[in-house]
Amino acid sequence: MARLARLLVALCWFVGLGAVSGRSAPNVVILFADDLGYGDIGPYGAEGYSTPNLDRMAAEGIRFTDFYVPAPVCTPSRAALLTGSYPMRVGLANRVLFPFSQHGLNPDEITLAELLKGQGYRTMAVGKWHLGHQKKFLPTRQGFDEYLGIPYSNDMGSHRYPAQGFVSPPLPILHNEDLVDQHPSQALLTQRWTAAAVDFIERSAGSPFFLYLAHSMPHLPIDASSDFKGGTEHGLYGDVIEELDWSVGQIFAALARAGVDDDTLVVFTSDNGPVVRPARQLGHQSGSAGPLRGSKNTTWEGGMREPGLMRWPAKIPAGAVCRELATTMDLLPTIAKLAGATPPADRIIDGKDIAPLLFAEPGARSPHEAFYYYRDERLQAVRSGRWKLHTYRPEWNDQPHEPLLFDLETDVGETTDVAAKNPEVVARLQVLADKARADLGDAARGRRGQNARPPGRL
Ligand code: MG
Repeated sequence: MARLARLLVALCWFVGLGAVSGRSAPNVVILFADDLGYGDIGPYGAEGYSTPNLDRMAAEGIRFTDFYVPAPVCTPSRAALLTGSYPMRVGLANRVLFPFSQHGLNPDEITLAELLKGQGYRTMAVGKWHLGHQKKFLPTRQGFDEYLGIPYSNDMGSHRYPAQGFVSPPLPILHNEDLVDQHPSQALLTQRWTAAAVDFIERSAGSPFFLYLAHSMPHLPIDASSDFKGGTEHGLYGDVIEELDWSVGQIFAALARAGVDDDTLVVFTSDNGPVVRPARQLGHQSGSAGPLRGSKNTTWEGGMREPGLMRWPAKIPAGAVCRELATTMDLLPTIAKLAGATPPADRIIDGKDIAPLLFAEPGARSPHEAFYYYRDERLQAVRSGRWKLHTYRPEWNDQPHEPLLFDLETDVGETTDVAAKNPEVVARLQVLADKARADLGDAARGRRGQNARPPGRL
């Protein structure tokens, strides 16, 4: 009898422990918008339309105010997210890939999908890839069990590239490695990617899974389905963002239906800043960087600072706000550790474990002494703490120019150069910039990086 009692106590203890701790390795969902700006969603002050699902995500999770992508355009930003490394590190910093390109993400790079697959995760990429459209570069060769999407940007179909004497094929949709559709309706892309993502969650909930949902919107040409078109006072751009928000709601509903809502880390961010145009020029097709200067293609804050929302009810306190610097490169080492995987040790990974920030631990600080802003292969700026130094601006036309210093804590819009007043700060950031030039390279100074790795080539 006593033995039975002891057994029951032990059993209860084990069951209770299981219920309290939950599964320590979360499912992972990364929602990656295309060209969505810092000011484009409700939690960051968007007006003229509403984003209730993203508002809810922020209220139930953590909102990063200083969350960066390490490039202001698509291909390099995506390479950084999936490898945890600067685009300069993995050889994809220059411009973006085109349908005539002969290179892509090096198959030797180890992606987040590969790390998670190694831990028994089911993996799927949905939507825009843009890391090489030839077979050897596709998601299915980079750790994803499945893929449905367009291998590059949604404006690259049937396009004439005069300098290359090249006309691209109609916009392709691939399923895994097979062409399954051409010239799809742009209005239906958000729905199509969402349906594939929901289907994957429903099929995968029995095992750990990683879903990378890289939306095509709001990259031009923007469009929305008839369910959303004409629905907002902000024109088509507002309609498109409301449909993206609907998609976020569909993902959360699918996680709840599958019973894995508590055990799933969901990340929402974007690959680069918005296309910003005067309303008269582009109708209502302009995005917003909110209070930030600049837009897509630039190394002003508006080009590279992004919304960063993360929700994992079992671990992240609701309504948290993080004002420390973090980046998309940090997702790989952070998530790898949560999943029990070891990031590659035979190469430099620039991302850092930001779990203490993610879990809003008191006093947690950014692990980054410096963050580097590259456009193409030129180092344009460096941030350390509150300070940002611009060392090169395209408008300087390669002419020698005194660097500009901005205090992002008091001047997030980068309006007032305070370099003359802070010579010691300028000197300190120049040293950090020189470190990056030696390590990663800098075409503006004719420097090649000692530790830069090559892209993959056909
Ligand atoms: Mg983009």
